[in-house]
Amino acid sequence: MARALIIGCGAVATVAIKKCCTASEVFSEICIASRHRENCEKLAQELRPNTKTVITTAAVDADKAENVSKLIKEYKPDLVMNIALPYQDLAIMDACLECGVNYMDTANYEPENIDDPEWRKVYDKRVKEQGFSAYFDYSWQWAYKEKFEKAGLTALLGSGFDPGVSQAYCAYALKHQFDTIEEIDILDCNGGDHGYKFATNFNPEINLREVSAPGSYWDTDANGKGHWVEIPAMSIKREYVFDEVGKKDMYLLHHEEIESLAQNIPGVKRIRFFMTFGQSYLDHMRCLEDVGMLSTQPIKFQGQEIVPIQFLKALLPDPASLGPRTVGKTNIGCIFKGTKDGKPKTYYLYNVCDHQECYKELGSQAIAYTTGVPAMCGAMMLLTGKWNKPGVHTVEEFDPDPFMEALTKYGLPWKENFNPVLVD
Ligand code: NDP
Repeated sequence: MARALIIGCGAVATVAIKKCCTASEVFSEICIASRHRENCEKLAQELRPNTKTVITTAAVDADKAENVSKLIKEYKPDLVMNIALPYQDLAIMDACLECGVNYMDTANYEPENIDDPEWRKVYDKRVKEQGFSAYFDYSWQWAYKEKFEKAGLTALLGSGFDPGVSQAYCAYALKHQFDTIEEIDILDCNGGDHGYKFATNFNPEINLREVSAPGSYWDTDANGKGHWVEIPAMSIKREYVFDEVGKKDMYLLHHEEIESLAQNIPGVKRIRFFMTFGQSYLDHMRCLEDVGMLSTQPIKFQGQEIVPIQFLKALLPDPASLGPRTVGKTNIGCIFKGTKDGKPKTYYLYNVCDHQECYKELGSQAIAYTTGVPAMCGAMMLLTGKWNKPGVHTVEEFDPDPFMEALTKYGLPWKENFNPVLVD
């Protein structure tokens, strides 16, 4: 019996909220809050007749910690689930600290305005020191470690699929399958087709920023020292035949969980992340980038200030509307190379999810589903005390077993392959 404040009511949050309502024994009360309360209320009205979970709604602009604190003080939740955007992470963490509440999210912090000189200073230093230039990284949220520890509060970062389940798979592989893991390849394949020439499967602004950034991976030099290797965006391409999906082109991207896994998987030498993209998506993205439509820098247009990428977002299909049109499957998982009992071993742990099955069950496509279910399962781990560990932690730092059990129960069972084709 617990009370959760859920901030965000978009594609991912909708799935998480619907799943919370099927687990009323844990989520006995939830409050759904975002800037547009009417969206939260619409979803609440749809759900109330069929759930024991008591649902309330609120309006909150989570860009400001004081707004979130005010709502927390009124609602008194046991946990704040941040399923809004990465821009709000720090403000919501501040509010949780002020009010003494546990925190979780699905993506690590990045600022909305990457031209902010204060942020830029820290960013430029990090690029120089660490060697990867993605706008998002864990440093901002890891800086809260001591504060959360001292307050006896747990912050769970990145409880979606990747980041999230991908890290639980690593913890599971280490716990049950390997003595040492040397190489990890995280493969994210979306074999779904929504019929549009160009659309993004989750928030377009966040998605396009992520995939247009330079790629990078973790590698180890001859002296055993780990370091980042950065490459131009989309410059490493591989072909892979995915179970239940078929052959796809995939590209090496920078991805946030590489950063935490490099610290938390002892002895790991190389970690890479690949995502599949069709040619049409890449052609559109390149063109949009070339003409400046991915820019976050405001411009004056007919007397009004507009941010090109936000304008583009308004033109593109709402990711939440892709559900009915998307057919095909996703296949997301990790290939491991390491040793067990002194012998070399390879192992592939993955999930296959069908877009239309997700739509039939919850009215959402598989990308929102595969993110929303782990968000709800991560929240469940915190609310049932299975994952409470004061500080700021990523998924691989916790026992994967209860989480993986919950994933299977709530719609994301895993599959294994003990002789996988490796990625060269
Ligand atoms: P959407 O754009 O569909 O939804 C975002 C939600 O956040 C909306 O309900 C919006 O409501 C709310 N929101 C935005 N700004 C604010 C604000 N200032 N205050 C309060 N609420 C706000 O995004 P998605 O559902 O696609 O993505 C949600 C999160 O999931 C993102 O952080 C994304 O990066 C992450 N994600 C993680 C993945 C993973 O595997 N780990 C995969 C896919 C996504 P309103 O406008 O009413 O405020």
